[in-house]
Amino acid sequence: MSRKKIVAGNWKMNKHWSEALILLHQIINKRDKDKHVLLFPPAYFLRQARMMIEGQSRIRIGAQNCASTENGAYTGELSASMLKSVGVSHVLVGHSERRAKFGEDNNVLFEKLNRVLEQGLTPVFCFGEQKEIRTSGSHISFAIEQLKETVFKIDQETFSKLILAYEPVWAIGTGLTASPVEAQEMHQAIREAIVDRYNDDTAQSCTILYGGSCKPSNAAELFACPDVDGGLIGGASLKANDFCSIINEI
Ligand code: PGA
Repeated sequence: MSRKKIVAGNWKMNKHWSEALILLHQIINKRDKDKHVLLFPPAYFLRQARMMIEGQSRIRIGAQNCASTENGAYTGELSASMLKSVGVSHVLVGHSERRAKFGEDNNVLFEKLNRVLEQGLTPVFCFGEQKEIRTSGSHISFAIEQLKETVFKIDQETFSKLILAYEPVWAIGTGLTASPVEAQEMHQAIREAIVDRYNDDTAQSCTILYGGSCKPSNAAELFACPDVDGGLIGGASLKANDFCSIINEI
């Protein structure tokens, strides 16, 4: 079964208003319009980004985060329904920076997944191991445990709407990238875990992105791995030329 290949750009807390306008404008114009692209700009820019892609095909806007609760007395938070109201279609859940710097554990992430799904939005669920876990050789069981405590609690029909993003923590923003062999080993193991939890069809149709220092020079070899369905790009998504070169490789 063929599955959707995607290149996603996570801008993180970068780009002020005028810079964001220029970057998005360049990506819209330079990208290969046959490829599926997802963009995660900062929250202040979501509505503008949504308006700028109006009428464009195969490009969608997502939020980098959302609240684990519904609307109410949660100063500073943005709910999934608010994000939906500005036309967002996807939400990142479980990014390692949210886990490490904002203390988000698997319980909170499960709540966030539910809030996103309740609004009919698509979660892009990130997971991956730290350096010491890889060194100890338990990276695969660690990653599968992260899934068991979160996305694997979801029923099959709902799970089939999700996108997964394997992002080894030691590769994020460090310039270190998983080798194609390392990425393929993990992605294949994840797909096998999806077979065990659900079934073969669900596993074969699940989009699993790779993230962690993916750039124009290594995107082709990573995306050539049979179980890697594209990338979640941080640093290299902040330059239109680099990002569009990566898009060309899926
Ligand atoms: P990076 O970030 O490409 O800068 O390593 C990836 C991510 O955090 O999603």
